[in-house]
Amino acid sequence: MLDFNNTQIAFSSKSNGELRNAQLLFTAIAHPSLVKCAKVASNFALKIHFPVSWAVKPTLYKQFVGGETLQDCVPIIEHLKKYNVKSTLDFSAESEQTPEGIQATFEETLRSIDFARGNENLAYTVFKPSTITTDDLLAKASEKREPLTEAEQAEYEEFKKRFFALCQRAYDNDVRILVDAEDYCFQDALDELTDEAMRMYNKKRAIVFATLQMYRHDRMPYLERIYNDAVEKGYIAGVKFVRGAYMEAERERAAQMGYPDPICPDKAATDANYDAAVQYTVERIDRFEMFMGTHNEESNYKLARLMDEKGLQHNDPRIFFAQLLGMSDNISFNLAAAGYNVTKYVPYASVRDVIPYLIRRAEENTSVAGQTGRELTMIRAEIARRKRG
Ligand SMILES: Cc1cc2nc3c(=O)[nH]c(=O)nc-3n(C[C@H](O)[C@H](O)[C@H](O)COP(=O)(O)OP(=O)(O)OC[C@H]3O[C@@H](n4cnc5c(N)ncnc54)[C@H](O)[C@@H]3O)c2cc1C
Repeated sequence: MLDFNNTQIAFSSKSNGELRNAQLLFTAIAHPSLVKCAKVASNFALKIHFPVSWAVKPTLYKQFVGGETLQDCVPIIEHLKKYNVKSTLDFSAESEQTPEGIQATFEETLRSIDFARGNENLAYTVFKPSTITTDDLLAKASEKREPLTEAEQAEYEEFKKRFFALCQRAYDNDVRILVDAEDYCFQDALDELTDEAMRMYNKKRAIVFATLQMYRHDRMPYLERIYNDAVEKGYIAGVKFVRGAYMEAERERAAQMGYPDPICPDKAATDANYDAAVQYTVERIDRFEMFMGTHNEESNYKLARLMDEKGLQHNDPRIFFAQLLGMSDNISFNLAAAGYNVTKYVPYASVRDVIPYLIRRAEENTSVAGQTGRELTMIRAEIARRKRG
C-alpha cells in the first residue's frame, strides 16, 4: 500500500548526519527574510567575484545539486540506483547569454546526452531551450508581434539547428530528451519545434518530450492536438506534465503587455487541469509516453491509482514519476519502493553558475504553501523514529 507518510522508506537513503543537515537547511529556508538576505548577498558576491563556495557548497548545493560535472554526479546516480530511483542529469548553469556562453551550454548538453547513452540509470536527458539562444530573440520569434530582421532570422536559424542537433543526438544515442517549458512568451515557437522534432524522432518510441505547463488554461486543447497529430502521422508522443514555475511573472507580464492572463484563475483550476491531462494521457497510453513532474502528493497518488484501475504494471516503461533532487523524497522513495518508475532531476553545474537555480529552490520552499512544512514534518518524524528505534 503506497503511503507517502512512511518516513522510514522516504529517508532510507539518508544517514543521521544528512538528515540533521536537511533539517537545519529546511528550517533556515522557511524564513523568507533569511532567503531574501541570502539572495541579495549571493548576487552581490557574484558581482564582485567574492568566493561563495564555502557557504553554498555544504548547504544548499549539497542538498539540491549532484556536482559540478557529469562525472561528479556518478556517486549520486549510484546511490539513487540502490533505491530503484533513476537520475535525469540537468545542466543547470544559468550563464550570461553571450555567444560563448550559449555555445558552451550547447556543447555541455551534447556531452550530457552522450553520457546517458546505454546507461540505464539515467532515465532521460533534458535541456532548456532558452539556454541555447537569447531570451530577446526567442520571445520575438515566438510572439510574432513584429517580423525578425535579416540578422535575427539568421540567428534564429542557428538556434533551430542547435535545437534539432540535440534531438538528433538523443535519437542517435537512443535516449529520451525532455524539452523543458519556460516563459509563455517563448512557448509558441518551442511548441512548434518540439512538435516537429516528435514527428521526426518518435516513430518507434518517444525520444522527444514536450513539456506542458498545466497552469496554462490552453494546454488541454494543445494535448489533444498532439494526440491527434501522433495518430494521424504515426508516432508516439512524449509528454511531460508540470504545473508551471513562473505564475507571478506571467501574470505581471500579461497585465503589462495587455494580453489575457494565460494562467488558470486559481490553484483548484490548475489542479483540475493537471488531473485532466494525466487522465487523458493514461487513457490513450498506447500513443503516449508520459513523465509526471510534481511534488504534489495527491497528483502522485492519483496517477498510481489510475494505473491500477487501467491494469497497468507499476513499472510500465511508458510512465515515469519525477521530483527534484533534495525535495519530496517521501514521494520518490515510497513510489520507487512500490515498484513505480521514478527519476530525480539532478542538476549539475559549478557553484557560481548554479546559484540562481539554488535561490529559486530556496524561494520555492519558502513560497510554495506547505512545502517546507511538509519536508520538515517528515524529517522530524524520521529523526524521532530513529531515536526511538
Ligand atoms: C521533475 C520536475 C521538472 C520540472 N520541470 C519544469 C519545467 O520544465 N517548466 C516549468 O515551468 N516548471 C517545471 N517544474 C516546476 C513545476 O512547474 C512546479 O513549479 C513545481 O513542481 C510546483 O508544483 P507542484 O505540482 O510540484 O506542486 P503544487 O504545490 O501542488 O503546485 C504549485 C503550483 O500550482 C500552481 N499554482 C499555485 N497557485 C496558483 C494559483 N493561484 N492559480 C493558478 N495556479 C496556481 C503553480 O504552477 C505552482 O507552481 C518541474 C518540477 C519538477 C518536479
